[in-house]
Amino acid sequence: MTGPSGRAPMERNTVTEQAVQAGPPGTPGRIAADVFGFDVVAERGRARLGRLRTPHGAVATPAFVAVGTQATVKSLAPEAVAATRTNLLFANTYHLYLRPGADLVARHGGLHRFMRWDAPILTDSGGFQVFSLGASIEHGVGKIGNIFPGEDQDRGRRRLAAGSGMVSVDEDGVVFKSHIDGSRHRFDPETSIAVQRQLGADIVLAFDECTSPLHDEAYTRRSLERTHRWAARSLAAFQATAPLHGYRQALYGIVQGGAFRDQREDSARFVGSLAFDGIAIGGNLGATRADMHAVLDWTLPLLPADRPRHLLGIGDVESIFEAVGRGVDTFDCVMPTRNARTGTLLVRPDLDAGVSGGRLNITNARFQSDLGPVQAGCDCYTCRTFSRAYLRHLFKAGESLGPQLATIHNLRFMARLMEDVREALADDTFLELRARVLRSPLER
Ligand SMILES: [Zn+2]
Repeated sequence: MTGPSGRAPMERNTVTEQAVQAGPPGTPGRIAADVFGFDVVAERGRARLGRLRTPHGAVATPAFVAVGTQATVKSLAPEAVAATRTNLLFANTYHLYLRPGADLVARHGGLHRFMRWDAPILTDSGGFQVFSLGASIEHGVGKIGNIFPGEDQDRGRRRLAAGSGMVSVDEDGVVFKSHIDGSRHRFDPETSIAVQRQLGADIVLAFDECTSPLHDEAYTRRSLERTHRWAARSLAAFQATAPLHGYRQALYGIVQGGAFRDQREDSARFVGSLAFDGIAIGGNLGATRADMHAVLDWTLPLLPADRPRHLLGIGDVESIFEAVGRGVDTFDCVMPTRNARTGTLLVRPDLDAGVSGGRLNITNARFQSDLGPVQAGCDCYTCRTFSRAYLRHLFKAGESLGPQLATIHNLRFMARLMEDVREALADDTFLELRARVLRSPLER
């Protein structure tokens, strides 16, 4: 078991300034050590155009956060990720704690130097994976998204099981077994913060328990009250410790409470009252899109307006418009990159009359001799360079370049969608953009 050392690694100083300068494009060497802040630039109804400032650069919001679970966006080098103008990554504390271990990452000077990514990074607290991976092993399935077969895999990360023997929760924290080797570990708010100090992300999350739709109202309430005590402990541990890598980190609290209105409202008020730098909305958002909208409607108006808001695990196009319209600033989701690896490419009918619907499966026979790009007018490397027929060929032949090129397109799709969203907020044409992209009637 690799535990937090609690001490600044001496090896940090062996990473020379020259080595930092040789890193990926973006903001090499541009670390503003004490910066964290959020500015609301414009408000359109409840939607916000903002600017998130971190030690590794400023990011315009609303923004999509690409997922790099194991300190990598699967299949892509950092230069290729940066070229899509993706500028925020999300890495997973649970995975990196178990493998390769937070000590090793700390000896590199933190995640940015370990994975050669100089733009902002978020890490989660580890809580989500502790509960969800434990549950998936317990149920004999390999992926979180398969725990409830037939349900939307994009939202699979919210599907957790109660009472798993892989995980036991008590007032102090959680004991869980590694999904890699079955070894036993304990996570609590203090451990989570210590590990996240070692990893050195710009934005870190408070330790929480993720409840599931399988949990009833009474259990969700007991869990919520414990999560609130853990939020206060996370904040105290954060305030009692210093950054290890020479720049400030920001801590977000997490609003839980399942699909229960009074619990979400209590959680929004409580978490919003603590001195967190920002607030994430997590956990079970209900069974349908309408449930998720309701959770956002209950929660967001109660949060402090001057702090950034992150929605955990949501990133499909329709949900982005719904969340942005309700005042969410950032969100992360595995969907665009996971879909890319199976040949599912995101497209916008409003930009390309040749596509219908929001996705195309490049392995489909109809693309066999299609000489056009994935999406006409897309400025990504893949669309500027290769035909649909070539991409289809790569996937059919099982070549690793296929998932790479598809990931480039899907990341650029998300970055460009968010560029359009921000431009529409600036111009006050957000509702028109939403109607155009979703092909839905304009609602005012
Ligand atoms: Zn493209």
